[in-house]
Amino acid sequence: MWIDTHCHLDAAEFDADRDAVASAAQAAGVSRIVIPAVARENFSTVRALAHGTEGAVYALGIHPLYTPHARDDDLDVLRHEIEASLDDPCFVGIGEIGLDYFVPGLDEARQQRFYDAQLRLAREFGLPAICHVRKSQDQVLKGLRRNGVTSGIAHAFNGSFQQARAFIDQGMHLGFGGNLTFERALQIRRLAQQLPLEAIVMETDAPDIPPAWLYRERNTPDQVPRIGTVLAGLRGLSPEELALGTTANAAVALPRLALSSA
Ligand SMILES: [Zn+2]
Repeated sequence: MWIDTHCHLDAAEFDADRDAVASAAQAAGVSRIVIPAVARENFSTVRALAHGTEGAVYALGIHPLYTPHARDDDLDVLRHEIEASLDDPCFVGIGEIGLDYFVPGLDEARQQRFYDAQLRLAREFGLPAICHVRKSQDQVLKGLRRNGVTSGIAHAFNGSFQQARAFIDQGMHLGFGGNLTFERALQIRRLAQQLPLEAIVMETDAPDIPPAWLYRERNTPDQVPRIGTVLAGLRGLSPEELALGTTANAAVALPRLALSSA
């Protein structure tokens, strides 16, 4: 079995065939899908979707790209929603939160404020954080350290070995997906090949980050086994060994996965 630790199954790109996409993932052996929220507007959507989809779970958070339109009291709403979800076995953590220094025009201080406030919630409730890290590795890590958050996933990780090690030392797992299927993605492939297997979890970020064979097309969670097979090849493992290892890692990164069954 495989886990897609990062899939925006609630995205509009799936409006026409969401059930079929989820079924195809199950049929392909992807028995768990983690659906992170991105804004207050979709908190109830991801929760309902997780409840209505076999093997799916959800996280709650405000994504850095959604901070320009977020209101300050969205953080109060988030706290309330977290409290209301603690008894829900489908709720696995805080996310998607983080910092994005790639997309132009975002207010750095505002991103940082939302990120820090949500890390404090993760710390307070003892929940893992699912982090968006784009051109912001050092600052995302500093936030985790400053706020005492010691578990979760740095999703779509792309940094140096030193940065990867620092995330791992902080207790974080690193998410790998479609990017590693591009032969020109030398740095990501080297990371995925050489980092300790214990640090790695699989993800798609669907509908984004399609693998090489879906270049510029819509990505879907049923691609995890094929992406995993590429990674297994890079590491000299069988796909089954990689599936077992990364699935166990996901359970460590997101302990509440054990509360709900596939
Ligand atoms: Zn995402």
